[in-house]
Formats: sequence, structure tokens, C-alpha cells
Amino acid sequence: MDIGFIGLGAMGSAMAANLVRAGHRVTVWNRSPEKAQALVKAGATLAKTPAEAAQAGLVASMLSDDPAVEGVTHGDTGVLAGLPAGGLHVSMSTISVALAERLAADHAKQGRRYLSAPVFGRPAAAQAAKLFVVAAGDGQDIARAQPLLEAVGQRTFTVGETPSAANVVKLCGNFMILSAIEAMAQSMTLASKAGVEKTVLLEVLTGTVFGAPIYQIYGEILAEERYRPAGFGAPLGLKDMRLVGAAAEQLRTPMPFLGVIRDHLLQALAEEGEDIDWSAVGLAISRNAGK
Ligand code: NAP
Repeated sequence: MDIGFIGLGAMGSAMAANLVRAGHRVTVWNRSPEKAQALVKAGATLAKTPAEAAQAGLVASMLSDDPAVEGVTHGDTGVLAGLPAGGLHVSMSTISVALAERLAADHAKQGRRYLSAPVFGRPAAAQAAKLFVVAAGDGQDIARAQPLLEAVGQRTFTVGETPSAANVVKLCGNFMILSAIEAMAQSMTLASKAGVEKTVLLEVLTGTVFGAPIYQIYGEILAEERYRPAGFGAPLGLKDMRLVGAAAEQLRTPMPFLGVIRDHLLQALAEEGEDIDWSAVGLAISRNAGK
């Protein structure tokens, strides 16, 4: 089918490549057009504007943050200007709950359809089409987007008819991932100061009661201190913690642990620069312990 794809960063370029591989006719747009070269070679068409990519009638966006998604959606050359009547925008970026609510309303006002479908999984999972998609919106829209979602992920969870519900689930997930990284990094620091190798601690814990992928994937990164190149950049992680905080404030939900992980992310950014992975909270924690 005809699919537009907007945003060719670490995640989007891999997802668009899988759409091409699955046999779809894919029209891509990226702010920096040079990132589309490999995809064009593989068979995608390069659009000059987001509106042009949206003319496919089904368009996905995978961009860094709220301002990027708003900028690409609105305006003379934006998604809403190009989507035909009844056309569907599948917003896969990690964005705020408030923006998802606004986008759903803006699309409805103009007779266009909107779905939130953020994903779990790092760029390696995106390359392997193994993402987990969390979708929310009208059931018919989700069914219409299925060929797209199936080409980029291993499973789609439907979490409600209100699109922003998917964004809430995604933000809760990222809060829990960073909390797990924080807890693991504190434990590894303690263990190594006591003379126990980080890898030994990891082997015991992931082989017993902490067998979840998050502990396995990030445990290895922490043990090897493999913070560059970033799979998920610390600035994006900080953005997500800000979005968790905004939702928590709006819904009057104290989340005291959020302050701790946010400050360690800030410390990692201050000490290491913007190109570091978000798991570099591990560096902040070990340095605070004099390691
Ligand atoms: P990334 O590599 O930094 O790519 C960001 C993309 O957004 C690029 O295409 C960039 O265009 C575009 N962009 C940024 N600001 C823009 C603007 N103002 N106008 C137009 N385009 C703009 O990020 P990523 O890792 O692919 O992440 C994309 C989204 O997926 C984020 O919401 C992130 O939180 C979420 N996510 C990431 C991961 C992960 O592990 N990386 C996992 C799950 C979800 P240029 O190429 O021109 O800079």
C-alpha cells in the first residue's frame, strides 16, 4: 500500500526501511534530506515537504519531540495540508499527553484521522522489525494502520479509543525503564565497591528473579560502560522525564522517584555532553560513590 513516512532519525530510518522491505510504496520526508539517500536507493520516494508525504493517505511520523511533531503537522507544507479527506496520521514519536490530545482534536476538526502509536524498543529492535507498538484510537483506524504497524513491529497492543492513552502508557514505560537502570546502576556500584564484579551480579540477578529484557539489555550496557554511541540519547530521555512530570502534575500524581532519575540524567549530560546514552545515569551514580 501507499505509505508516507516522516522522520528518518535512528528509529525512523530503520522503520521506513522495513516498510520498503515489506513491499509498500513508501514516500519519505526528513528535515535533513541527505538521510533519505539509502532509502531512496532501496526504492523509497523522497518528498519535498511533509504535505507531499501525507498525500499517500496513510502517513506515519517518528520525530524527536513535541515541537518537531507540531511543526511537521501544521502549516502550509505540513501533514494536515497534504492528507486527503479521511486520511490517517499515525503519530509514533514519544510526545506529551497534552499534544496527543491537541493533535486528535486538530485532525478531527479538519475531517482527518489521528492515531497515537508510540513504540518500545531501541534502534536495533527497529532494524529487526521487533518493536512493540502501543496503539490507541478508533478501532477502524487501528485496523487500517495494521499493515504499517506489522511491518515495523513484532506486536501491537491496543490500549483504548482515546489516542493519548497510548502516550500515557509509553511515558509510564520509559519512567519504569529509567528507574530500573537507576536501581541496577546503584546496585552495581555497591557490589563493585564490595569487590563483586558487575558482570557477576548481573549474571545472578538476570538468571534468577530479574530475567526481563530491560535488565538484560541495560545491565550489559552498564557493566561494559557502553554509553557511546547512544542508542537512545540522554537529551531524548530528559525530554521524556519532563513529559512524565507534566502528565503527573496535570493529574496530581506525586512521583518522587522522578526527581532522582531526572537529576542523574542532568548530571550525565552536564559531565559528558549531549551525545551520551540515557543509561549514562550509571556514570553519575558511580562517580557520586567515588568509583
Ligand atoms: P533521532 O535519531 O534524534 O531523530 C530525530 C528525528 O526528528 C530526525 O529525523 C530529525 O530530523 C527530526 N527532527 C527533530 N527536530 C525536528 C524539527 N524541529 N522539525 C522536523 N524534524 C525534526 O531520534 P530517534 O531516536 O529516532 O527517536 C525518535 C522518537 O522515537 C523520539 O520521540 C524518541 O523519544 C522515540 N523513541 C526512541 C527510541 C530509541 O531508542 N532511540 C526508542 C523508542 C522511542 P533531522 O534528521 O533533520 O535532525
